[in-house]
Amino acid sequence: MAKKITTIIPKEEIEKQYHFMQSVQSENERIAASKGKRNAKAFVRTFGCQMNEHDSEKISGMLTSMGYEITDCQEDCDIIVFNTCCVRENAEEKVFGHLGALKGLKRANPDLIIVVCGCMTEQPHIVDEIRKKYKNVDLVFGTHNLHRFPELIYNVMTSRVRTYETSRTDSEVAEGMPVKRDSNIKAWVTIMYGCDNYCSYCIVPYVRGHERSRRPEDILKEIKELQSQGIKEVTLLGQNVNSYGKDLEPAATFAGLLDLICKETDIPRIRFMTSHPKDISPELIDTMAKHPAICDQLHLPVQSGSTRLLEKMNRRYTKERYLDIINNVKKKIPGISLTTDIIVGFPGETEEDFAETLDLVEKVGYDNAFTFIYSKRTGTPAASYPDQVPDDVVKERFDRLLALQNGISRRINDTYEGKIVEVLTEGLSKNNTDRYTGRTGGGKIVNFTAPYDVTGKIVNVKITHIQTWSLEGELIEDEK
Ligand code: SF4
Repeated sequence: MAKKITTIIPKEEIEKQYHFMQSVQSENERIAASKGKRNAKAFVRTFGCQMNEHDSEKISGMLTSMGYEITDCQEDCDIIVFNTCCVRENAEEKVFGHLGALKGLKRANPDLIIVVCGCMTEQPHIVDEIRKKYKNVDLVFGTHNLHRFPELIYNVMTSRVRTYETSRTDSEVAEGMPVKRDSNIKAWVTIMYGCDNYCSYCIVPYVRGHERSRRPEDILKEIKELQSQGIKEVTLLGQNVNSYGKDLEPAATFAGLLDLICKETDIPRIRFMTSHPKDISPELIDTMAKHPAICDQLHLPVQSGSTRLLEKMNRRYTKERYLDIINNVKKKIPGISLTTDIIVGFPGETEEDFAETLDLVEKVGYDNAFTFIYSKRTGTPAASYPDQVPDDVVKERFDRLLALQNGISRRINDTYEGKIVEVLTEGLSKNNTDRYTGRTGGGKIVNFTAPYDVTGKIVNVKITHIQTWSLEGELIEDEK
């Protein structure tokens, strides 16, 4: 099959969207003047992963450029956007629940525009359900149409016709759209979209489409801008960052991209997610070991410790191969923090399969594991596998896995007692406002006391007390 090359959406199309942003802003000003109203307000609710959180920052960026003030109160606004997730069934149910609850608001304010976008809307049966049952929704658009949001909003505003746009442009990426970031310390940077892996339980390739990489020069430009704004940490995002660049002309690699970012910028901290074990290269591990700016943290989803189940999941690695990768990572980067995702109750999971997972968790010694109960997703191969595991069995296994991982996390955290760690301070702790909070390079949460405001600074903290999920300490030294 011929290689599909990713291209950039033409500049004229992006300029057209900026033109629509201005038109929406003018329309909002006209409405405000004619009705003697305040400025237009927008509410954005995000469901799901970091990719969605960052997409919401792009949505907020476009809304701000259209003259909307972003608010966290949906009762008093002119547009409500739900950016949805479909990885788990209960996330979809939540969205429908929230949409139902908006019916009263829409009755009270018929001018309110309700928008649903994100992964859920790339599934035709979901769009049908919204069309039939949620007549309060004005606009539905898919993950591939994000950059067209200004034009779609303008059309809805001026025609008041319910609009659905989920068609795909599966080999293009948009550059140059505005972003309103939630933090001025840390930032997400998307490096690629989509996934070609088709793990048998996962809906992502069907809703996010093929892998599309951004050009290295565009990623570099964005990171340089973030650095000039004082951002201290970037997290490079993609469903499968290890596949980065295969679709570019000339082709690029993720290790090469990291190397380039480290050489061309002075950003103090670089993280990335998510990696697929089948694609992780020795060059990537060497690159991580070489550059101090790349955080000593690796999130490497294993999903199961049973090679038999991994095959049914279409993960394309074995337990042994996974452990080899981990051993190599530990050898090259001593003290690295390791995290993972694990699914409990995948169809056909036996007690022996589960014992393999427990064994792997012990052998790796993860700092943290994100454990999930298998969620059946319509349209994926695993949804039709016959041997679904009974709920009570899954729950009992889930609790056992959690107890094991909690013990391991605590054991690892205990080794930090008395150590001095480097922390990027994010601000005052939400629960304890006389303490600051931040993360180590390995991603551990540290709450600490400091005699003055160290928000946004990378500081040295001495660890004085240990919790299972966090460390506590006191400021030793400010950044140079
Ligand atoms: S790698 Fe597998 S689990 Fe991850 S997004 Fe792609 S298909 Fe889903």
